[in-house]
Amino acid sequence: MNHPQRIIAHFDLDSFFVSVEVIHNPELKGKPVIVGGQERGVVSACSYEARKFGIHSAMPVQKARQLCPHAIFLKGNYEAYGNYSRWVTDIIKAEAPLFEKASVDEFYLDLTGMDKFFHPFEWTIALRNSIIEKTGLPISFGLSSNKMMAKIATNLAKPNGYLHIPFGTEKAFLAPLPIGEIPGVGTQTEKLLNSYGIFTIHQAFETGKVELENILGKWGLDLWEKSRGLHFSKVQPYHEAKSISSENTFDENIADVKFLNAELVRLTEKVCFELRQEGKLAGCAAIKVRFPSFETFTRQARIAPTNSDDAVIPVVKELFKRFYKKNEPVRLLGVKLSNFTSNAIQANLFDKGKPKENLYKAIDDVKKKYGKYSLRRASSNS
Ligand SMILES: [Mg+2]
Repeated sequence: MNHPQRIIAHFDLDSFFVSVEVIHNPELKGKPVIVGGQERGVVSACSYEARKFGIHSAMPVQKARQLCPHAIFLKGNYEAYGNYSRWVTDIIKAEAPLFEKASVDEFYLDLTGMDKFFHPFEWTIALRNSIIEKTGLPISFGLSSNKMMAKIATNLAKPNGYLHIPFGTEKAFLAPLPIGEIPGVGTQTEKLLNSYGIFTIHQAFETGKVELENILGKWGLDLWEKSRGLHFSKVQPYHEAKSISSENTFDENIADVKFLNAELVRLTEKVCFELRQEGKLAGCAAIKVRFPSFETFTRQARIAPTNSDDAVIPVVKELFKRFYKKNEPVRLLGVKLSNFTSNAIQANLFDKGKPKENLYKAIDDVKKKYGKYSLRRASSNS
């Protein structure tokens, strides 16, 4: 099968939350900094200096404290992160005809056809320079022929660099790299593949798709395509959010139901806070649970339009309680809100919600002033 040649750039802000913190407080520069200060929570972001101690995002904060007791732990200023993210989005939007915002700090640009008019690599370097000059944030990019290759290039270029993997060289480029360089292959999958003698991407390719499917199920087929440098996912044009979600892949599989419930509460507080910043109400709440087998389940429920933690937390907990079997290890946990309506209209329709609304406005004002985690209900700490 012949596939038309595509040109895809992947941009990723370097340790984004920490970089924003450094702009606000230059004294943090060059120090081990960790965002995600709660004892029972996980690391949201960490500086490269912190990574030298083996710390990485999604690791429990307690473990990070053991690895690097003298690190600076910050609660995180999510409103500032949102503002910087929108700023970078606007700069890209003004330049790129087709782009996807994959997360708060990650973008894919489809530059296919642009080579008739510009040199795509030079153009992408200029865009990166412009983002750095305007915002002061370090950002890396990778340029190649599909989203996966571009992302791998970015990961190798980090921090604060860029890399071009030209069309036709993808498979040879990947061959010697560790299998863990393929996005989606986490520590556990890598260990499993290692136990079959598969260490490099070339070895995964040589293993063949039948054997990879035997080891990993359907994901094995996908992995085999990826080991050849192929990936057909399209750049999804950026639209205003239709849903707000937050999820965590845990460093180790977790079966501690108390911890999982605390995580659910924390994730719900985070998405409700973001929802209130958007001035919206959600009519649907969902949970996402992934098991070590990579099987992933979502459960959702309709709710009366709301943006209040108190309304959403019991729904989310109930969805989880009904679905989750005791002592089952969990790999990933997520919470998603969708079916948005504008807050302004709904506030009049649901008048008895008013006092709560005032309460949340007061809480959010405190959160904005003193950081997101200054006010928490007791259940999210226990
Ligand atoms: Mg990043």
